[in-house]
Amino acid sequence: MKRLFVLLMTMLLSAAALAEPMTLTGVGRGIDGDVVVEVTADDTTIYSVRVTAHNETPGIGTVAVEKLPEAIVAENSIAVDTISGVTVTSSAIKEAVRAALESAGIDAAAFEVAAVKETAAERTAVTLECDVVIVGAGGAGLTAAVKASQAGAQVLVLEKMPIVGGNSLKATGGMNAAGTQFQAALGITDSGVQAFIEDTMNGGHQINDPALVTTMAENSADAVDWLASIGAELPKVAATGGTVHKYLHEPADGSAVGSYLIARLSAVCEEAGVTVLLNTEATELVMENSAAVGVKAQDEAHDYTVKAGAVILATGGFGANYEMMTQVDASLANAVTTNHAGATGDGILMAVSVGADTVDMERIQLHPTVYQETGLLVSESVRSMGAILVNSEGKRFCNDMSTRDAVSAAELEQSDSGAYIIFDQRIVDNLSSTKKYINNGLTVQADTYEALAAAMELNEEASAAFVQTMETWNAAVAAGEDAEFGRNNGMDEDLATAPYYAIRVAPGIHHTMGGLKINPDTQVLDKQGSAIPGLYAAGETTGGVHGGNRIGGNAVCDFVVFGRIAGENAAQYAAAHGTAE
Ligand code: ADP
Repeated sequence: MKRLFVLLMTMLLSAAALAEPMTLTGVGRGIDGDVVVEVTADDTTIYSVRVTAHNETPGIGTVAVEKLPEAIVAENSIAVDTISGVTVTSSAIKEAVRAALESAGIDAAAFEVAAVKETAAERTAVTLECDVVIVGAGGAGLTAAVKASQAGAQVLVLEKMPIVGGNSLKATGGMNAAGTQFQAALGITDSGVQAFIEDTMNGGHQINDPALVTTMAENSADAVDWLASIGAELPKVAATGGTVHKYLHEPADGSAVGSYLIARLSAVCEEAGVTVLLNTEATELVMENSAAVGVKAQDEAHDYTVKAGAVILATGGFGANYEMMTQVDASLANAVTTNHAGATGDGILMAVSVGADTVDMERIQLHPTVYQETGLLVSESVRSMGAILVNSEGKRFCNDMSTRDAVSAAELEQSDSGAYIIFDQRIVDNLSSTKKYINNGLTVQADTYEALAAAMELNEEASAAFVQTMETWNAAVAAGEDAEFGRNNGMDEDLATAPYYAIRVAPGIHHTMGGLKINPDTQVLDKQGSAIPGLYAAGETTGGVHGGNRIGGNAVCDFVVFGRIAGENAAQYAAAHGTAE
C-alpha cells in the first residue's frame, strides 16, 4: 500500500513538473564534434530551440544551425525536413533535441510526427531578364558573377541547393599558381609558369588540353592578385602531391581554402548587387537560332524563364551521380564519394542536349585519403606538411606524395585495400583541418609509436615494423632523402612531436576530370568544334584542364582562372548582343 502511494505521488509530481515548460540541454553528433541545443518545452509543445555550441563548417553546417531550430518550433515536431545537402548537421540537431526532451522524461516520440503540410499553392510562371545568367553558385559561378558584374553586367545566379559553395566549399588545401608575388616574397624562384604547365600535364598523363593548361598557368598569378584585390589573400605557399615545386597558395591563418574563398566571393557578390536565387534548379537551356539565350529553372513555387544575353554553366562535376559515373566505370558503384549532393552533372546534361561535346568523361579521380564511414576527405595538406601512409603490416608502401591516382592504386594493392595516415602534434598545431578529424572521432592517438600501433590494432609483427618505419622515416627526413620510395616533397620536418595520430583511409570518388569541351575563352564547343554562341562554362563541369588526373590545388586554380574568363567574356558577349526578346 505504502509503495503504491509513493509511486502515485511520484507520477503526480512529475506530471505537475511537466505542466510547466522547462529549459533543457541535449547533445548530438555533428560533422565536426558535438552540437549542443537548449530546448524549452513541456510534454505537448516545443517553445524554443537554440543551438548553443557547435563546430560545423561555416556555410554548410551553419545553414542547418540557423534554419532547423525555427522549423522544429514552427511545426512543433522533430520530424521536420532535413536540410538538403546538410544531412549530418540536421540529424545532429534533431538528435540533440530528442536527448534534451528525454533528459526530463518527456516522450520525444510524441514529437516525431511530421506536421501536416498545406498543399503547395499553385505554381507561378515568372519571366526574369538579365545580362548574364550563371547556373551554379560554387567557386566558378561566384567568381564569374563577381567578374561579370565588375565588367558592368547585370548578373543573376541560380543555385539549386539551399547554400552556395558546392564542392568548392569543401576544398581544404589551397590554390596552385605560378610566378606570384607571394612566391617571390618567400624566395621561391624555381616554381614558375613553365614548371606548372609541365607538372599539370605530367599529372594528367599528357592527355590534358595543352591550350587550356597554358591558359590556366599563365593567368594564375593574375588570379591570385585579383583574389587579393577582393580581400581574399593566399600568402602561404607549399608543395602539392605529384610535384617538387611550391605552387599551393593558402590562407595566412591555416583555414581551409574553400570556405575562405566562398565566403569572400559571396560577400563581394552581395556588395555588387548580384542576385543569387537559392533552392532554384536550372532544368534546360533556352536556345534561339542555335544560340543560348537563357535557361528554364524552378523552385518550390515558381517556374522561371530567364532571358539573358549570355549563359554560364558552372554546375560542377558529377561525382554524386552514380548513374552517370557507372555508365563510364562500373567499378565505382560501391565506392564512397567526397562530393556534395548537388554534384550531379546537370550542366553537362543540359549542354549535351543542345549539341555540346564532352571530353574525358571516363576520367574519374579517386582520392587516396578518404575516411570510408562518412566520405570525409583527409586533406592532402596533411601529407604535404609531413604525414606518411603505412599499411596494416606497419610499413610504407609507396611515395605517399605521388599523384592521387598513383597513391590510390598503391592502396588498392594492399592486403585490405587501404592505409593509415600518420601525423603528429606539430601538424595538428599548424593545420586547422586536422582538429576537425580529431573532434569528429576519426583519429586514434598515443604518446609513443608503440602505443599508436596498439591503438591502430596492429599485430605484434606489424607493431615492431611500424616503430622501425617511423624511425627510418625520421632519419630520411633528416638526410633529405627517401631511399625507399623516392618521395621528394613534404619532407621539411619529421614526425617526432608527440602525441601521434592515425586515421584509417582508403580511396574515394573525388573529382570528375571530364566534362564539357571548352576553348580557352570558355566558350562551349559543339561536336564540330565550333563555339555555341552565348554559351560559356567554367570549373568542374568542363573537361580537358586536368586530363587523366587532377593534381591537388588545381581545382581552385581552374575555377578562379576560368571563372574570371567566363565572367568577362559572357559580359562582353551580352553587351554586344543584348537580351533575347
Ligand atoms: P565548381 O568548383 O566548378 O564551381 P562546385 O561544385 O563548387 O563546382 O559548384 C557547382 C554548383 O552548382 C553547386 O553549388 C551545385 O549545387 C550547383 N548546381 C548544380 N546543378 C545545378 C542546377 N541544375 N541548377 C542550379 N545549380 C546547380
